[in-house]
Amino acid sequence: MQRRPFIAFPLAALLPRHTRAQAVRTLPVVASFTILGDMVRQVGGDRLALRVIAGPDTDAHVFQARPSDAEAIRGAAVLVRNGLGFDAWFDRLARAAGHGAAIVTATQGIDPRATEGEEHHHHGGVERGTQRHMSPRRVADPHAWQDLRLGQTYVRNIAEGLAAADPAGAGAYRRNAQAYAQRLAALDAWVRAQVATVPPARRRVITSHDAFGYFAAAYGIEFLAPQGLSTTSEASAADVARLIRQIRAEGITAVFVESMASPATLERLAREAGVRVRGRLYADALSGPDGPAPTYEAMFRHNLSLIVPAMRGEG
Ligand code: ZN
Repeated sequence: MQRRPFIAFPLAALLPRHTRAQAVRTLPVVASFTILGDMVRQVGGDRLALRVIAGPDTDAHVFQARPSDAEAIRGAAVLVRNGLGFDAWFDRLARAAGHGAAIVTATQGIDPRATEGEEHHHHGGVERGTQRHMSPRRVADPHAWQDLRLGQTYVRNIAEGLAAADPAGAGAYRRNAQAYAQRLAALDAWVRAQVATVPPARRRVITSHDAFGYFAAAYGIEFLAPQGLSTTSEASAADVARLIRQIRAEGITAVFVESMASPATLERLAREAGVRVRGRLYADALSGPDGPAPTYEAMFRHNLSLIVPAMRGEG
């Protein structure tokens, strides 16, 4: 993170005298999107006044900030971003606010995977120009949270960023982060055990969004999100026909739509291939509190509960 001076802001000073005794200092923190927001909440708890800019079921790749978002960033002591080109709009918002908040980059220290190339990147490439280029045709894949071991790196980066900005809370942040990272390690082991129940040749998933590269690499599952299906553009007839042949020839049964993507192309493809869409995976945004993936941990449990039986061909 970039260390900049943080001046503790005594909220109590703004309150009427009779409420000052009960008032506590809270650290104003702004996170760019829901998955980071949940991690920050797990680490910071009640010590933080947390605001998440791109909310549930919102595409944070191409987010359009509102004036109230710029206002929230102006008042923040700590800004938490993913980095690797995912939430570049958040960086621009922070620069425009132009003040001395500490910036925590959750992916700091992570060696990023490369994506196939720019033309494969999804969501129409509105942010294409800001992606971190690894070579002329390779860009860093920003979806590192889809590997729970890397998720533990996120948690450590967040805890150290909060501790630097609020030294009085450093012990609490580090304790919370340690307990949370232990839960994520246990969840990682559970994911591996779940995947191990599927014969290796059946560990294939088709979905509409290429967000699962880290998940695929970590857990030994092949994800197919062919060009055309993974962008906002329509897949060509040849792409669809090729994928239908592959689904039939290889007996692929795990076909999913992704929470933010339009399901139309994938549903048509599944129909023509004689398989059915098995539900909606969560990749880049959590659901609201009443949905199936309201936390980072719940997102993995939800996705696995769909993927594993579908790969086995059950149901
Ligand atoms: Zn994505």
